Parts: sequence; structure tokens; C-alpha cells
Amino acid sequence: MNVVYEPRGRAREYSELACNLYRGCTHGCRYCYAPACMRTTGEKWHAKAEPRKDILRLLEKDTQRLKGDTRSILFCFLSDPYQPLERTERLTRQALEIVSKHRLNNQVLTKGSPDLIYEDMDLMKDARTQLGITLCFSDDDTRKYWEPGASAVEDRLAILKAAHKAGIFTWVSLEPVIDPVQALDVIRKAHKYVRFWKVGKLNHMKTVEQGVDWGKFLCDVEKLLTKLGAKYYIKNDLRSFAVKSDRK
Ligand code: SF4
Repeated sequence: MNVVYEPRGRAREYSELACNLYRGCTHGCRYCYAPACMRTTGEKWHAKAEPRKDILRLLEKDTQRLKGDTRSILFCFLSDPYQPLERTERLTRQALEIVSKHRLNNQVLTKGSPDLIYEDMDLMKDARTQLGITLCFSDDDTRKYWEPGASAVEDRLAILKAAHKAGIFTWVSLEPVIDPVQALDVIRKAHKYVRFWKVGKLNHMKTVEQGVDWGKFLCDVEKLLTKLGAKYYIKNDLRSFAVKSDRK
């Protein structure tokens, strides 16, 4: 079984290769897409996380198969690599050691435990890891509602600053945008420490989505990122609103 796989659909816009180290995620984000992907309920998926069986042995095998491949491996799409269980399991740390040993390009996407991320920064530097932080809100009370088990906004901003200072390539997943005003605020607060932005809208929550003027947000976010000289990618589902606006 290959544990490094090629994501499809929207996930492909993030990375050509990915690997999920844990099954389940206790961050419990209200917008979480993982239960639907895994054909389970949010209640079950968020209740506990567990290491995937034999994951490090299988990752080692896959990295040998991928020797010389320049595509980047993302940890992880369906769970957070720095969720509480990482404190005892250290799967993410060991996975980074494996990809580093084989000199494979890699990236991490997290909104997890700051202390664990700080501990791994030296390793990330050696492994040339691109550190991605999910950050969609500037107000921590809003963050607590949508991402109850994840780290605080201030902690994520501090991580970006420290990683940037340490010479690690930093990027932000500004997705899912739920509150456009807060999303723009995040950019203003973090842009000095962020090398790349990936911006995407909320999906699969019709009642919340309908309350946002996505065409306006797209226009505003591109204007701001361009003004700041930032590098960015707008995901296709948000980009499609430019076409709709142009047709009006
Ligand atoms: S961190 Fe990701 S996988 Fe975990 S609950 Fe939140 S959206 Fe789902």
C-alpha cells in the first residue's frame, strides 16, 4: 500500500503529493472536510486520533520509491500533523526525518500545538520544509467557535514570525474564508512573515456561504495582496467568482 498519494480535486491545488499520518483529528473544526472524504461522521472523526498502522515503515518504503521525485509531499490533508497525540507519538517529527534523509521536498499544513512546532523548527530547516499555517480569522473568539481544538490566533502569528526569522519558508492557508473582513485583517497582520498565500472560500455550508459577496472579496483580497507585493494563489472555486462578476 502506498501512503504517499496524489490528491485529487481541490486538494490537488495544494500539493501534488500528500501523506496522512494520523486517522482522526481532535481539533474538531466545524467546517472540516475530512469526515465526508472518509465517509464517516464528524462526531466519530473528531472524537479521537490514532496513528495509522505501520505508517512510518510504509512512508520509508514510499520515499525510496520516490527517490529523485521533485514533487512536494504535504503532511497532512485529513488530520493535523501537530494535534495533541503528536506529543507522545512524534510521527510528524519522524516523518520529517525520513523525507529529509531522502532529500524529498515536503511541506506541513497545521493549526496545531505551538510548542511542538517550535521544537521541530531546526528539523524543518534541515528538511527544507515549507511550513504552512491555516489562518482564516483575526479574532480568537471567532476562531474558538469554528476551530475549538486548534491553536489561538496569536500563537499562529507568533509561529509564522519565528519560522520566518529562522529562515523557514512560510505560507498561509487562508482557507476556508468565512469572514472576509477577518481574512483581510490576517493578511495585514501576517504579511511580513509569509512567503506565500493560498486563498480559498468556504464550501459545503450553503447558509454561511450565501452571506458572503465572494466576487467582492476576491477583488479586495487580490488588491491587498498585490499592494503588499505578496505572492499568492487563488483557488479555483473562489476564482470562479471573477468570471461570474465579469459576465454581469
Ligand atoms: S485541523 Fe483539518 S482535519 Fe483537523 S478537524 Fe480541522 S479541518 Fe479537520
